[in-house]
Amino acid sequence: MPTNLIEIFSSFQGEGPHLGEPMAFLRFQDCALSCKFCDTPASFEKHADFRVETPPQSARFQSYPNPVDGEFLTRLLQPFSGQILSITGGEPLQQADFLAAWLPDLAWGDPVLLETSGVFPAALAKVIASIDIVSMDMKLPSVTGMRSYWNEHAEFLRIARQKQVYVKVVVSKPTDLDELREAIAIVEREAPGIPFILQPVTPAREVGETIPEARLRELYDFSKQRLADVRVIPQVHPMLGLL
Ligand code: SF4
Repeated sequence: MPTNLIEIFSSFQGEGPHLGEPMAFLRFQDCALSCKFCDTPASFEKHADFRVETPPQSARFQSYPNPVDGEFLTRLLQPFSGQILSITGGEPLQQADFLAAWLPDLAWGDPVLLETSGVFPAALAKVIASIDIVSMDMKLPSVTGMRSYWNEHAEFLRIARQKQVYVKVVVSKPTDLDELREAIAIVEREAPGIPFILQPVTPAREVGETIPEARLRELYDFSKQRLADVRVIPQVHPMLGLL
């Protein structure tokens, strides 16, 4: 069963508690969501080709046609081995059937990290056995401009907690405290003690400004009243011009 990609490249992780660790990034096409702040609009387009950094860390790319099968993808990834593999997108769980069939044969040798919007629990269940670290978003409607996903997030976290997991919540000036309270309650109930990351929004698409420091402090203090491990970690790759 083939799949559709956007790119394969190496860089430093630019978000969350693994910030700064070198990783290989495997970016899949497609995302059914539409966050106002989305920094990967390429996810919404169909790509006839995908690009592979050749050789790794060179910032030079070679193109290959989509779709790609698992055996060829494994060969393309070999030069990137020796570091964490970040499976990202878009929403990689929209390719869950491909991942469920391909990941058990990959034998990566280092941890496999899944970056996901956290709204497709049934898809996560198909692949969780092959994932080591789950980087799970929780989507606040006041920040994303979409509906809430509380039931999906709760079910997702019940599956993700089998492995190392942390939750990232993008926050902006209009963040609604009742929504943040709901996200905190889900973490308290399903996986207390995991890292809970407040990620100040990076201006993109329909979002023109990040969150003021005083508001960020308020959201941190609010979260810290209920959760043990709360951190504020911004995206650093846009600041550094990294991929
Ligand atoms: S879930 Fe991620 S890829 Fe999809 S729209 Fe939101 S930010 Fe963009």
